[in-house]
Amino acid sequence: MAAVKADCLFCKIGRREIEPVVLAETERLLVFLDRNPIREGHALIIPKAHYDYFDDAPLAVVNEITALAQRLAKRLKEIYPVEKAAYMFSGGDIAHVHAHVLPLHKNSDLTSLRYVTAPAQGEIVLGMAHLTQEAEALAAVREKIGPLT
Ligand SMILES: [Zn+2]
Repeated sequence: MAAVKADCLFCKIGRREIEPVVLAETERLLVFLDRNPIREGHALIIPKAHYDYFDDAPLAVVNEITALAQRLAKRLKEIYPVEKAAYMFSGGDIAHVHAHVLPLHKNSDLTSLRYVTAPAQGEIVLGMAHLTQEAEALAAVREKIGPLT
């Protein structure tokens, strides 16, 4: 297995030093619910090994992430129900490969608008605290999604 970084949040989650609400696990990957969901069911897929960005990871790892994302997307579309699910790699917040998968209720669900609040003065403030879900709420979502088969 490739290296891990001691101070990387997702490496800690991959080693289960921090326990997420897990939806699926393989030898190389972990799928868990985002604690700051854009929509209920918003999950992250990470390799347990550390690679900064998706283009740094071996193609086999990226392909395995995509295969899991497809399975999860089909499941999310069934239970929410929506016509589309989104899948994207980002890296703007944490430099450890992670893919987002979420049910798309609106086409704008993937834009940064969900992360922006605008106080009365018109000042734009970045923040996600209003979206944070507690562990109990996330566990209920995991029960709803069920095992990925
Ligand atoms: Zn890492």
